[in-house]
Amino acid sequence: MDIGAYTSRARRKKKVLSDFLDKLDEIVPEGMPALVEKVDATVWQDIDCTTCANCCKTMTPTFTQADIARISTHLRMSPAAFKTKWLKKDDAKQWVNTTQPCQFLVDNKCSIYDVRPADCAEFPHHNKKPFDEYNTTFKNNLVHCPATLTLVERLKKVVERDFEW
Ligand code: SF4
Ligand code: SF4
Repeated sequence: MDIGAYTSRARRKKKVLSDFLDKLDEIVPEGMPALVEKVDATVWQDIDCTTCANCCKTMTPTFTQADIARISTHLRMSPAAFKTKWLKKDDAKQWVNTTQPCQFLVDNKCSIYDVRPADCAEFPHHNKKPFDEYNTTFKNNLVHCPATLTLVERLKKVVERDFEW
């Protein structure tokens, strides 16, 4: 996957796509959940996360206490040692990675996939409901995630073609 091309496209279209997401905050077209599901299915026909991993390279997940307990057990470490080695608290007092790319990304793959943080398992959150409650997240992720960029581009096209709003 050509991440550079996606990033350039995202930077170029960020304003217009963010404005679309802002409008979705105000007006939600009828049948939006089904529409998101349908359009999202087309996104995953074209996007292959195993050739990307840009989220793991440029962002950090948040680690819940359950995540920390599960992953540290898997790594045969104490939760305290795990935090000291890799995590810090962010401004919202949540545990996050100290550095990017994520320390668990090895050969472009997650080396702790089966026990990865819930935040990673749920990323890029396209199936969250209601979709429009995550508009801020999607706006932030446009420049990081080719799948989110593609989803919002396609949603914008369909909504503006099929709905009066
Ligand atoms: S834990 Fe795995 S999936 Fe999550 S950011 Fe790190 S490498 Fe990526
Ligand atoms: S979720 Fe998005 S950023 Fe992460 S690997 Fe998949 S396409 Fe890339």
